[in-house]
Amino acid sequence: MAATDLKGKIALVTGASRGIGAAIAIRLAQAGVKVGVNYNTSEEAARGVVEAITSNGGEAVLVEADISQAALAEAAVKRVVEQWQGFDILVNNAGINRDRLLLRMTPDDWDQVLDVDLRGAFLCTKYAMPHLIRQRQGRIVNISSVVGISGNPGQANYAAAKAGLIGFTKAVAREVASRNITVNALAPGFVNTGMAEGLSDEARLRILERIPMGRFGAPEDVAEAVVFLCGEGAGYITGQVLTIDGGMIA
Ligand code: NAP
Repeated sequence: MAATDLKGKIALVTGASRGIGAAIAIRLAQAGVKVGVNYNTSEEAARGVVEAITSNGGEAVLVEADISQAALAEAAVKRVVEQWQGFDILVNNAGINRDRLLLRMTPDDWDQVLDVDLRGAFLCTKYAMPHLIRQRQGRIVNISSVVGISGNPGQANYAAAKAGLIGFTKAVAREVASRNITVNALAPGFVNTGMAEGLSDEARLRILERIPMGRFGAPEDVAEAVVFLCGEGAGYITGQVLTIDGGMIA
């Protein structure tokens, strides 16, 4: 896809202070997109992402919000619209995990993960949608996970949220297809970020054995797919789940 496709578009990337979200924000900005860099607690890191973008001639603004709270998610979308008078792209990337085997999983472990990973995506999409509908065009990319497709022991809450995000993606894609708005999901495998840092060396080795490409993913592997799905060339692709996992669940 030619990078010029996206020049001047306006985006909000949730959870863009670190990891995959930071890579998506930086990559979109390289393609000429003006980016709202959302964070919840990592203000310094998020400032670093904004600086990385602006020091390279791009445009970015800091957007503080816990996206699991309705009023704050709404304010995050509004912040971007007020900054640049428009809204074209929403990337629902913010996510957490609270891994435990089911018998040890607390109701709070369940609620916290569902609140951020699923409810947060619903809220941001709901508040962004009127702007996309008004413009009669838009792109939404939801960051799900291979765990939402195949499940994983110790991640019942996370798998439920990520599978829910896939159902959400398909339902909303059908709702807004006639408005020229695409809604797709990416399902990364294991990506080297803070989220994967908690894995023991033994667990890492076990996972690596299951990845035909023999390496964990990089945040940039996911960011490239976001840029593709947001480009004009992907305008007829909607309601899809694209797996980015080095062949793991092929
Ligand atoms: P990460 O390094 O742990 O970063 C998570 C991001 O989400 C941070 O920017 C964090 O912001 C933000 N966040 C958490 N709670 C939030 C909230 N309530 N409101 C707003 N932002 C919030 O995670 P990652 O590995 O980059 O994962 C990014 C996405 O990819 C997640 O949805 C994850 O489930 C998915 N994913 C990851 C992998 C993997 O292997 N890493 C695989 C498949 C899918 P603050 O730090 O500012 O709080």
